[in-house]
This record gives sequence, structure tokens and C-alpha cells, in this order.
Amino acid sequence: MRFIIGVLIGWAITAGAARAGELKAGAAKVEITPPTGYAMWGYGSRHDQPSEGVLDALHARALVLAAGSEKIAIVSLDLGRPPTRQSTAAIRARIKGAGIEHVFLVASHTHHGPVLELDDWPDAKQSYVRQLEQKLADLILEADKALKPARLGVASKEVPLNRNRHSKRDDKPVDRELLVLRLEAADGKARALKVPDSMHKVQDQYLEAITLLKDASAEMAKVETDSKIEHLVTAQNMSYTASEDLLKVEDVLWPGEHKPN
Ligand SMILES: [Zn+2]
Repeated sequence: MRFIIGVLIGWAITAGAARAGELKAGAAKVEITPPTGYAMWGYGSRHDQPSEGVLDALHARALVLAAGSEKIAIVSLDLGRPPTRQSTAAIRARIKGAGIEHVFLVASHTHHGPVLELDDWPDAKQSYVRQLEQKLADLILEADKALKPARLGVASKEVPLNRNRHSKRDDKPVDRELLVLRLEAADGKARALKVPDSMHKVQDQYLEAITLLKDASAEMAKVETDSKIEHLVTAQNMSYTASEDLLKVEDVLWPGEHKPN
């Protein structure tokens, strides 16, 4: 992610240098949940069991940034992997007319989404993968149509929230830099992120849940020093509580979109 944001900032600076103060941004969101019964991504060791229903809908979110004559689209996906090369080429071809040459398609690596390597389901003529290509191209074009003058800010912080689970090396690489990109409308009104008074309670609940997750991570890390398995149990319980609290917060912010288990 650091690479992507680094590229993005580099791009915004160089593209914006020609005509400073002309950064524009537009965003859009669409649901991409496949029909129930679809094969799930990353389910190989679980006997390829297809999906049995929908707990939370899957979404794609697009952000288009424009500076001078250059445009970039960043698309986040509730999917296990980004679309295949063939799908990416089809999406790029559809948005070329809007002058969008740079496209990042980034997946969250969820194992609760569809397989993307099949393009003949439910049938070859109307496959989910072909429909997804169309939806993502339309989504990017919708975000492009919503372009408005914007300001961009960036900040970073070291956080202990991730680990390298693969490498057995002592010097296993871990990128602990959390980079945050913030955009707001240039007029400062329409999209300013000021929290309204009525939201202070939910904001506090959110911060408490995030702090609990951070503490769970620290608890888990204690195993490395004393090898006591209890730390993992405690950390897991803390994580469960934090997740439940986050779902409550989400239900206030987006009622019905995220259903608790
Ligand atoms: Zn995985």
C-alpha cells in the first residue's frame, strides 16, 4: 500500500505541477455481491463449497483523481483478489474514452467473496465476471462524472497492528507504516470530515473498539517473550469484543448494511 500511495502522491505532485491548484476528486460505490451458490475464492481446502447466503453485501468503491490532463482511478474491492488480466484489460478499454489511463484495482483479500477465475457462471453468456467488468467500468465512469475541485492531505504513523506470518527468518520484513490519504472538497464545505455533535458518542465507541484491537495485538505479541498460550486466548477474546463493538458502531452509521453474527 505504501508503494501505491507513494506512486499516487508522486503522480499528484508531478501532474499537478503543470497547473497547480487544479486537483479534482470524485467517488462512487456499487454492490458487487454475486448470486448465492457461487464458488468461493480461497476455498480449496474446504472442498470447494459454494456460497450458501449473504451475511454482508460486497462492494466496490472508486476514487478518481484528476490533475491537469491526467486522471487516475483507485478502486477498492471486497474480493479475494483483483480481477484477472483479461478483465482488467476490458475495464481499461471501457474507461479509456474518459481519459483515465492509470488504474489501481485493489482487493481486500477476503475469503468470503467469489472465485474470479471462472467466467462461465451462472452461464457463459451472462457470467458474473463479465458483469463485474461492466460494473467496475461504469463505477469508475460514475466517479469521473462526480469530479469536483479537491484538496489532498497525507500523514503516516508507525503502528504495531500487522505481522509477517510466512517467513521463518529472524529479520522477517514487516511494513509498520500506516499511511492515510485524506481528500476534501476545495470549498471545505461539502465533504469536510467534522464530526457532528450527535455523533460524538458513536465516535467514542469506535475509538474504544480500535484501542481494544490495538491492545489485543500487544497481548498476542507477549507470546514471543514467554511462550504462554493464554495470551492468544485473551487476545482472541479481546478481538471478538472489539469486533462486536465495531459492528454496533457500523449499525449506527450504516443501518442494516452490516449484520452481527
Ligand atoms: Zn488468504
